[in-house]
Amino acid sequence: MATILVTGGAGYIGSHTVVELVKAGYDPIIFDNFSNAKPAVLDRIKQICGRRVPFYAGDIRVYDQLAQVFAQNKIDGVIHFAGLKAVGESVNKPLEYYDNNVNGSRVLLQVMRDYGCKNFIFSSSSTVYGEPDALPLTEQSPIKRANSPYGQTKIDIEYMAQELQHAHPDFSVVLLRYFNPVGAHESGLIGEDPQGIPNNLMPYITQVAVGRRECLSIFGNDYPTPDGTCIRDYIHVVDLALGHVAALNHCLDKAGVHIYNLGTGVGYSVSDMVKAFSKVLGHELPHKFAPRRAGDVVACYADASKAKNELGWVATHTLDDMCRDAYNWQKNNPNGYDD
Ligand code: NAD
Ligand code: UDP
Repeated sequence: MATILVTGGAGYIGSHTVVELVKAGYDPIIFDNFSNAKPAVLDRIKQICGRRVPFYAGDIRVYDQLAQVFAQNKIDGVIHFAGLKAVGESVNKPLEYYDNNVNGSRVLLQVMRDYGCKNFIFSSSSTVYGEPDALPLTEQSPIKRANSPYGQTKIDIEYMAQELQHAHPDFSVVLLRYFNPVGAHESGLIGEDPQGIPNNLMPYITQVAVGRRECLSIFGNDYPTPDGTCIRDYIHVVDLALGHVAALNHCLDKAGVHIYNLGTGVGYSVSDMVKAFSKVLGHELPHKFAPRRAGDVVACYADASKAKNELGWVATHTLDDMCRDAYNWQKNNPNGYDD
């Protein structure tokens, strides 16, 4: 079976994808600098998979650290998760974001080219669509200038990888545009463990649920949506991980550029999320309304039919599953991997 280098494989989406790769019979190798992950995740992955997954501690910006992995292993393909991802932080640290994300991806692609590895799967985001003109978003929806340096790095990396593919037509470049990943592995052994105050909705909710934070602030209830709160397409992280397996199964050694939305196709509001989570919790999650957060799009959800038709992939987990598994992870690990 193919050997797949997973950059950022110790992170939230990467760790779940490593588990599903092992289950599907692939041989993943994790490469991570642990800038936003804890080594403890490696033991958790081992507990789930029943075997140790090889890993290298290294930085994608350092050519020699990556080259060592390619020299020591025959890498058939790369799934590239490594990067910085906090939208707000990127506004204050644009150079760090361009360096880590764009420069790091450039070095990675250079090593792949030099070692003859032609399969590249990239973690892109629905943020490349900006404020949508029309919903649902298809892969043909226009790419807009991003409203944060983080979002712009995703657009830049998409273009860089496509341009490399044009120059080297035997490359297979897969751009997966994620909607809003939430939830955790059903074992409760791996999950999302943000450092500091969570920026994203679900980890904030779960930290309120276990008493680590007092109350969720809902950012804005005067948006032009049925209940006034913003709408997103939340997708269970295990479904997202399986989307990568489906992309590998379908696109490995299939030269070209392949772009897929990975979402459920269903939009839920922030108030819907609070209601669904409260049901799982058994009482109402403490929440209050607060002013809008700068830069938020009103509504965003996918047309996920291309992934269904071409990859045979559909998200199967429900909103209840997402809330249950996110809560289960947080309950078992109230302080994340620090426990
Ligand atoms: P994460 O922070 O949990 O995982 C990223 C991993 O990359 C971390 O383990 C971190 O230590 C590692 N890393 C960062 N910079 C590195 C470097 N220079 N060299 C080596 N390793 C490095 O984030 P995640 O939520 O798992 O996201 C994974 C990818 O998916 C990111 O590229 C992110 O932008 C993208 N994405 C995430 C979301 C989301 O909501 N979580 C949505 C769309 C796209
Ligand atoms: N949100 C919120 N309170 C929070 C965090 C997020 O009301 O503490 C809202 C946010 O304004 C947005 C939605 O939840 O409407 C999803 O936010 P998230 O940051 O998770 O995803 P993104 O906005 O990047 O799609």
